[in-house]
Amino acid sequence: MAENPRLKGKGTGARVTKTADWCFVSLTVDMPDETPSARTAAVGIDVGLNRLATLSTSEGYENQAFLRTALKKLRQVNKRLHRRKPGSKNREKARREVARLHYRMTCMRDDVLHQLTTRLANCYGMVGIENLNLKGLLKNRKLARSFSDASLGKLLDLLTGKVEQRSGQVIKVGRFFASSKTCHGCGWRWEDMELSDRIFLCQNPSCAYYQVAQDRDHNAALCILFEALRLIELIDQAVNDIGSGDDVNLTADAG
Ligand SMILES: [Zn+2]
Repeated sequence: MAENPRLKGKGTGARVTKTADWCFVSLTVDMPDETPSARTAAVGIDVGLNRLATLSTSEGYENQAFLRTALKKLRQVNKRLHRRKPGSKNREKARREVARLHYRMTCMRDDVLHQLTTRLANCYGMVGIENLNLKGLLKNRKLARSFSDASLGKLLDLLTGKVEQRSGQVIKVGRFFASSKTCHGCGWRWEDMELSDRIFLCQNPSCAYYQVAQDRDHNAALCILFEALRLIELIDQAVNDIGSGDDVNLTADAG
């Protein structure tokens, strides 16, 4: 290797792999466990297909725009692949091009997901997120968008791993909880809200957000945050009850 390893520790092994014409060496380094300080801030996240993630702080992470360009290119090279004669050298060349493109798309997507989840885990000790119905999403989609559906599952996995490693917790809010249709200020429900309604308007005259234009995803993220905090309180309460010596059966379903 022509550079100094950035990790200090005892090297215990190396593995060479080949993916889509690229060779990789992974080094295993034995390092002491870090014990990061506990974080106390809480955040809610609304995950979607329009915007990858919207935080309750109103920050947004755009869905990977490169996907659209890459998908177009993928269709081109796929077409080329199928025009080539089976068994020919040119067919093999085209096949490798398709494989390389697939791999590059995965890398770019994972890069976005890693950056987002590392940031969240570094900043927040409690993350509320919707428990996604991935099967339902996949059923509704037609195109190669299944790719972005797969990102949502990966986002959850990465997030849970990183937050728990830093001794924080990820609270999954059940899908039965309609975060998008609920006003975060008063709990008023917009029952016939459509997917195309991007602005949430609360119709409860006594609410502070009455007729105030709220971004749909931001409102949802706040609802998810409050629901997650409510669930945590339930868990804490149950733990405290047990701690006080009362004979309490833990039957509350925290989702
Ligand atoms: Zn309201």
